[in-house]
Amino acid sequence: MTDIPVAADTGDGGPARLTGGDSQKSLESDSQKLPATDSRKLLVGLDRDALTAELLGFGLEAFRARQLWHWIYHRGATDFSVMTTLAKPVRERLAEAYVIRRPEIARDLKSVDGTRKWLLRMADGQEIESVHIPEEDRGTLCVSSQVGCTLTCRFCHTGTQRLVRNLTAAEILDQLLTARDALDEWPAPPDGRLISNIVLMGMGEPLFNFDAVATAVKIIMDGDGLAISKRRITLSTSGVVPMMHRCGAELGVNLAVSLHAVTDELRDRLVPINRKYPLAQLINACRTYPGVTNARRITFEYVMLKGVNDSPADARALIKLLRGIPAKINLIPFNPWPGAPFECSTPQTVQSFGDMVNAAGYASPVRQPRGQDIMAACGQLKSTSQRSRAVVAEILAEKDAALEA
Ligand code: SF4
Repeated sequence: MTDIPVAADTGDGGPARLTGGDSQKSLESDSQKLPATDSRKLLVGLDRDALTAELLGFGLEAFRARQLWHWIYHRGATDFSVMTTLAKPVRERLAEAYVIRRPEIARDLKSVDGTRKWLLRMADGQEIESVHIPEEDRGTLCVSSQVGCTLTCRFCHTGTQRLVRNLTAAEILDQLLTARDALDEWPAPPDGRLISNIVLMGMGEPLFNFDAVATAVKIIMDGDGLAISKRRITLSTSGVVPMMHRCGAELGVNLAVSLHAVTDELRDRLVPINRKYPLAQLINACRTYPGVTNARRITFEYVMLKGVNDSPADARALIKLLRGIPAKINLIPFNPWPGAPFECSTPQTVQSFGDMVNAAGYASPVRQPRGQDIMAACGQLKSTSQRSRAVVAEILAEKDAALEA
């Protein structure tokens, strides 16, 4: 979960299986395969080395990869014919063998507060959501990493849905490329960008799809293309402890942790991955996360649930738990959906909880819900609220069983 509208929704795929910290190859998408009538290969999502190797294999010189990279990721080109730095015969050859395409925009919703949400349809028909949140000093794009989620965080709408599959690196990138198209931000200006920050806080657990996430993030950080610095990218995890160090060491991005509870007993219920990686392990992984300093703090997300985790004793325990970790705590008023098992804490309770945490030296902003009129939070756009409670209960039981295994 997150400090902004996050997570999304899914269709009804097969039962989820929790396989631990590694990416789940068996869940890889075939959506980037083109229709049978189109045998062209997709270029988006290949990192620099892969793109260079691809073009060398195609009989082109290595420098063509640099040219293509610039057109795809700096200029946002989707048509080889506009790539005027390439000779016309080269463009024609490329167009015969390769393609640069975007997902279909199934829905495009704008909130009165400026938040914008896209429901994107992948080539295999699966849909994911991305949300753009404009603020005074930044514009943040919230990106999904999976269709659905293996986990069952009890306050999260996506948690009531089955995991369908991992997104490919191309599909993760497509969310940014499509948003830039929609916001008319090619080439991106060095300052004052509409999309200046990326948060991997959408649908899915990014550390369960690390390989694709890492490839996409490295492409996003590349200075000759999308050029969004690692300091402006935040990955949010529910606590996949074995992958956290690798994430920091390999990508160097900011880390956000969905904490939400300060005892194992409660966190086991709210964030069930805690049964596998309990708080002591999680907090230790935070303490040793590469690159954490007072200037680069870990963000802990804490959803405020009335009568569940919002007491003064909880606040004191939170302060004790995080002692010594450079941290910021985002307090998130719970955003209920039909049938949700919780209520949001009262504004007074949120305020006094925040005051206690703040007095202990931790920044503890309260996030205001954004885009409520367009259902920007947690998978509500393609809502499954009409699904029967029995079916939801069955899905949650399947996921819990997988988690216990
Ligand atoms: S990890 Fe938890 S909060 Fe994130 S999408 Fe999955 S169920 Fe929701």
